[in-house]
Amino acid sequence: MGLSKFSWVSGIAIVFLQLVTGSFGWGQHGHYVTCKIAEGYLTENAMAVVKELLPKSAEGELAAVCSWADLFAVRSHYYWSRALHFVDTPDFRCNYDYTRDCHDSSGRKNRCVTGATYNYTLQLMSACHNSASKSRYNLTEALMFLSHFVGDVHQPLHCGFLGDLGGNRIHLHWYRRKANLHHVWDTEIIDTALKRFYGSDLNIMIESMQKNITEDWSNYVESWEECDANCTVCPNPYASESVKLACKYAYRNATPGSVLGDEYFLTRLPIVERRLAQGGIRLAATLNRIFNSSCGLISNVGKGEQGVSFA
Ligand SMILES: [Zn+2]
Repeated sequence: MGLSKFSWVSGIAIVFLQLVTGSFGWGQHGHYVTCKIAEGYLTENAMAVVKELLPKSAEGELAAVCSWADLFAVRSHYYWSRALHFVDTPDFRCNYDYTRDCHDSSGRKNRCVTGATYNYTLQLMSACHNSASKSRYNLTEALMFLSHFVGDVHQPLHCGFLGDLGGNRIHLHWYRRKANLHHVWDTEIIDTALKRFYGSDLNIMIESMQKNITEDWSNYVESWEECDANCTVCPNPYASESVKLACKYAYRNATPGSVLGDEYFLTRLPIVERRLAQGGIRLAATLNRIFNSSCGLISNVGKGEQGVSFA
């Protein structure tokens, strides 16, 4: 079956069976961690709206749908969404500029991870305050896309260089296995840490990070939550941080053909864990700002028309 012929699968449960991880963002584990951390910082009001919008199959758990946007079926059916998971930046500049960088490969403006983050925030906000928007947009999808993209923008190589497609073209070894640098940052560092330090139990990894947030990182949490005055969402500084981290940590000592082992793993894992935590805290802060007490979305939220998702 060719990609273009892949028809929309009814029922999210079936779509979940088609999980694809890899070069599309934090892998499944990374997105789960980010959203699980976010769940713990949602206000009562935001949690109520989130639960109202989640598909039934999520059983009230935001983290259950945070990899939805990476599903093979979703990416195939919503082909237009492929450019929305990342923003590539000019090689070796180590900086990000929305006007310069946020476009897809055909040059269409705003089609990148930061543009998508603005877009889905606006959809949810307009639905909060305008009943016509409730039926215009698919708010369940808007929530799932937003929760996914806030995670993606924190993965440093999602704001990597255009020339190597955010590390996807840098082929090397992760210990003994062949990998590419992008995949190392999406998945391998997290999975190696899970096995080595957390008994392959994702919940233990999450608990450890939650403890870090309330202890070692507690002084930073407030600044992570901040957004420019009166802004609801602010993905641009997250993308700037990411490309700087890509230059300082991801690309360093990771040239094509190299073998990455303990030295690379142990020095980069703290960066990955911090980015997952920041993503979670910032996703919660964003959802809390969108679904504040003036949001009129507590009941009768719109399910919208499938696929009408990029305003
Ligand atoms: Zn993604």
